[in-house]
Amino acid sequence: MIRLHIPQPLSQGAAVAPEPDQARYLTQVMRQTVGDEILVFNGADGEWRARLAEVSKRGCRLTAQEQTRPQAVGPDLDLVIALVKRARLETIVEKATELGARRIRLVTTRRTNADHTNVSRLQAIAVEAAEQTGRLDVPQVLVPEKLERLLDAWPGDRRLMFCDEAGDDPSEAWGGEHGRARPALDALQGQARGAWAVLIGPEGGFAPEERERLRGDAGVTPVTLGPRILRADTAAIAALTLWQAVLGDWTAGA
Ligand code: SAH
Repeated sequence: MIRLHIPQPLSQGAAVAPEPDQARYLTQVMRQTVGDEILVFNGADGEWRARLAEVSKRGCRLTAQEQTRPQAVGPDLDLVIALVKRARLETIVEKATELGARRIRLVTTRRTNADHTNVSRLQAIAVEAAEQTGRLDVPQVLVPEKLERLLDAWPGDRRLMFCDEAGDDPSEAWGGEHGRARPALDALQGQARGAWAVLIGPEGGFAPEERERLRGDAGVTPVTLGPRILRADTAAIAALTLWQAVLGDWTAGA
């Protein structure tokens, strides 16, 4: 069934007016007519079955019929991602939405060289991915900020899985000493659930001073994703997958 994110209050009998492009999609692309039913959600009131009540030149109107699923919240997982090339960033936002990230925080780092960002386009990609994947909420895409500033204001109760490609010396990552990166699965096992974030660097990787700072910060778990250097999109997918499998909602204890 068609599923749309419509940020309006949903309750029994509520009238819901989709945005013009959603209305066009419904009536012109998907050829829905009065009486047809779709699913709608707004991130707060769960998911509802809604009937197309009226179609006009100017748009359409739906009536919420009954709740199909109550609102539920997924894990409290942020993806902190350095700006990378546009196409790659769009893939990352889509995949992070599918993989259950709650927020996507864009950051600039010492070696960030991409300065494009169309946050509203990225947010629209998150909405579409949430519609498709059956989520009851849409991850928030936050405007880019400096990594240093983000770390300065980092809340004490949120842990950070720092994906550390270990710079020029990959062998350095496998030391296992305190502060050094450990294989991700080993590093996550036994850690507490709760608020977490995954940090992925830019195509140029992290600068040595960023790496030093991150390794020294309380609450940071430096991890490696194996001996090969992954592209940022692959690294984000791999890291979110591992986190979900150990500490997130892919596990029985979630
Ligand atoms: N240019 C860098 C690679 C950057 S890859 C270099 O050659 O070293 C982009 C980001 O993906 C990295 O900053 C890191 O966060 C993540 N990443 C890629 N491969 C990784 C690995 N094997 N382990 C941990 N993180 C990795």
